[in-house]
Amino acid sequence: MYKRFFSAGSLGIMRLLIVSGIILVSCKNNKLAPSEVISEDKAEARKDSIEFARSKSLQARIKPVVFAQKESDIVHAKIYEDAVDDPAIWVHPSDPAKSTVIGTDKTNGLLVYNLKGEEIHYYKLGRVNNVDVCYNFPLNGAVYDLAAATNRSSSTISIFKINRDDGSLTELNGPGKLDEKLDDVYGICFYHSKKYNAFYVVVNAKNGWVQQWKITSGEEGNIHWQLARDFQLESQPEGMVADNELGFIYIGEEEYGIWKVTADPEENYKKVLISNTTSDNPDITYDIEGLSLYKAPDGKGYLIVSSQGSFSYAIYKREDPNKYIGSFKIIDGIVDGVEETDGLDVCNSYLGHDFPLGLLVVQDGFNDDNKIKQAQNFKYIAWPDIAKAFEPQLIIDTSYRNR
Ligand code: CA
Ligand code: CA
Ligand code: CA
Ligand code: CA
Repeated sequence: MYKRFFSAGSLGIMRLLIVSGIILVSCKNNKLAPSEVISEDKAEARKDSIEFARSKSLQARIKPVVFAQKESDIVHAKIYEDAVDDPAIWVHPSDPAKSTVIGTDKTNGLLVYNLKGEEIHYYKLGRVNNVDVCYNFPLNGAVYDLAAATNRSSSTISIFKINRDDGSLTELNGPGKLDEKLDDVYGICFYHSKKYNAFYVVVNAKNGWVQQWKITSGEEGNIHWQLARDFQLESQPEGMVADNELGFIYIGEEEYGIWKVTADPEENYKKVLISNTTSDNPDITYDIEGLSLYKAPDGKGYLIVSSQGSFSYAIYKREDPNKYIGSFKIIDGIVDGVEETDGLDVCNSYLGHDFPLGLLVVQDGFNDDNKIKQAQNFKYIAWPDIAKAFEPQLIIDTSYRNR
């Protein structure tokens, strides 16, 4: 489901109805008199409020607590629109303080923020859903860092060169309109196979199909796109992240669980279930949303997963068999806490004095300032605040560079 529990829009309608005193349904006992008829909006709002309360109560069971240090500027969407979706942190190769956060507004385009959360670039591209970055892609005798996003308006992948001088994006050639097999492009990640020295863009669609496109330097400075393989999951996936060193792609099947799939097409396709959303598993609650890897040396580190249905984040070990470590939540502090996260990205590089020991960026489904609702944005969390919320403390290591 796109937004299983509720949309910001319908919650907004709920609030408006309450404020204007025209809600007829008792929210106390959630029961309707037999003769009572409610509109679709009201029914949806009522369901949303129940789901919000349920997610909040699941969140309350999680003990490790973290505060965001910064929040990004709000997007150019309306206050009640569900707009912000997925961030990708780009680490500048020589001046870490010039690193950026590239984020999707799924109503209209891509935004680029600096490490203070200020918007520095904005590209109206249509309905881009998820975004990822990769480093040092060889193209036409040079190397470029790339950003790629699923574009639901044009049913394709929008791909860009990241300009190292100012973090702006220059569009390159995509693969064209994607195969009809892919019904509504949705999640995306890069995979740079260190073993085979190959670059891929992996894309999934709402109907469960996943396609892995090999990208190489083509003619006249263009990217050459070649479909390397595809496979289908049983229900809708979205969040994905690749482990470039260990050769796996992690995929969130939203209502079902987290898969770990062999990433190199040269090798046998194998998928292993890391965790699922059955009711007897308290670790994650559907939807499974953003996935990202915190990479420490020697194949160590963590897989971080947005457990959207419990307003929290689950942490698994990066190494086999991906043991569950625990979960944390982000609550009100200098900036507001985080609810119903879609996408996220984590990075362990030194990023200048704002984030010297790594950064987690998450989408916030309900942004407010002093309890006054605002359009959506991203929250920035310093990695040590997360690492120290656990006992024993998680690894804090900046030696791995994202490249
Ligand atoms: Ca989703
Ligand atoms: Ca919030
Ligand atoms: Ca999403
Ligand atoms: Ca805020």
